[in-house]
Amino acid sequence: MSLLYRSTRDLNANTIPASEAILKGLSADGGLYVPTSIPKIDFDLSELPAFSYKELAFRILRLFYTDFSENELRKCIENAYGDSFDTNLIAPLSFHDGNGYLELFHGPTIAFKDIALQLLPHLMTTAAKKNHLQNDIVILTATSGDTGKAAMEGFTDVDGTKIIVFYPKDGVSFIQEQQMLTQKGKNTFVFAVDGNFDVAQTNVKKLLNNDKLSQELANNNYQFSSANSINIGRLFPQVVYYFYAYAQMVKQKKVALGSAINFSVPTGNFGDILAGYYAKKMGLPIDKLLCASNKNNVLTEFFNEGVYDKNRPFYVTSSPSMDILVSSNLERLLFYINNENVQATIELMEQLNETGKYTISSEIKNSLSDFFAAFANEDQTANEISRIYQLDGSVIDPHTAVASYVAKLYKETHSDSTTPVVIVSTASPYKFPQSVLVGLHDPAAFEPGFAALKALKSKSHTLFPNAIEQLLNNQSARTKKIISSGDMKKAVKGILFRK
Ligand SMILES: *Cc1c(COP(=O)(O)O)cnc(C)c1O
Repeated sequence: MSLLYRSTRDLNANTIPASEAILKGLSADGGLYVPTSIPKIDFDLSELPAFSYKELAFRILRLFYTDFSENELRKCIENAYGDSFDTNLIAPLSFHDGNGYLELFHGPTIAFKDIALQLLPHLMTTAAKKNHLQNDIVILTATSGDTGKAAMEGFTDVDGTKIIVFYPKDGVSFIQEQQMLTQKGKNTFVFAVDGNFDVAQTNVKKLLNNDKLSQELANNNYQFSSANSINIGRLFPQVVYYFYAYAQMVKQKKVALGSAINFSVPTGNFGDILAGYYAKKMGLPIDKLLCASNKNNVLTEFFNEGVYDKNRPFYVTSSPSMDILVSSNLERLLFYINNENVQATIELMEQLNETGKYTISSEIKNSLSDFFAAFANEDQTANEISRIYQLDGSVIDPHTAVASYVAKLYKETHSDSTTPVVIVSTASPYKFPQSVLVGLHDPAAFEPGFAALKALKSKSHTLFPNAIEQLLNNQSARTKKIISSGDMKKAVKGILFRK
């Protein structure tokens, strides 16, 4: 069965195959691609525990990327989930305080975006071949810290591609910045932007939708694509680990096959948790998806009040990858809860664009019952890191701590719920050593980045992951290039059109 994709903003409901949607990233009308229907899994849940991560990825992704041959898809998956991960489980599950923690930080950049971004370049180059593309692909990406490095790592020296990354100049951690500035690859470029993540993301979207610029690119044998989490080539690889987590819960007898579990997901751009929503619609027994935010709690308000309002202060927090006021992927959820009504989706997005705010009707809000939403402030996040450490001596990162806190809150406020919980653990503590040490009340929290790393190592009695070893051994960082947010177009042209 072939599955096609349409834009959330196209009243004519034109469709394209998956490979084209992967190449385009964002639809020209500004909408996001969604499948014309959400596929159901075509295997029995009882088969799940026997699948390796790669086999499961194949079983899930073939339902979404139906114009890829079996051979093409298997090859992409084989290339993505190999030696660049430090465990062949890819996404192992650990347990703290009786809850599962799905560890998505075993890839090359020690954060969960590797899971999708190790695969995306392979999907994209395969899609380019299928569509007889002559142009080189230029990936433009705004990052709140983790996407940028993970995307550069994925696309480094991939033939026929260039990648240009923009990050908020004061909005990423020391380690995140060092990771980006030490990236290898002749086709990778990175700029610090004088503005926050939303400014960078808004400008990237404008560049991707700028017809004149696209024409200039085409004249020079280039075309844009996006590696941001709006791309269906990033979204659906994230569905896989929800199934994988469930399989591990069953195997470890934490849940009976067929019974539901909850997931608590540290949320920023709403890509990760949306993948969980797809998993549920495909047939995975999920009761609630807990949408965990930090102090930038725009989503908490949306789920609880039915009002999305980005007109509020923007906070730089200890969980920077969630410091977001406009969660792009939420548009897909709006499309679904409005029963795939394009006009309604367009109207909400126009309101957001014009006033920074929209309200959904109480009737529509009722279809949000798959979700529970709450947030952790900075103290609550730090205390959660400390609580887990005191329980069993293990150290979690601030993003994971936000989700862990919200899972605890959910249990406290739903004392009758015995549903097992999996906390999606999105980053290694070594990616945010200072913030973690704050939680552990360690004075080294105020030491420069590398000293903090060493303090964390002795505190947690764990080895440095490869990504950290490499940073410590790499002396050749690029110089940081800071540009104003108004100069992002100039920066892109400078790279592509310089003689
Ligand atoms: C990107 C990121 C998130 C948020 O994921 P979204 O898909 O943007 O909601 C959470 N934690 C970490 C470590 C991340 O890198």
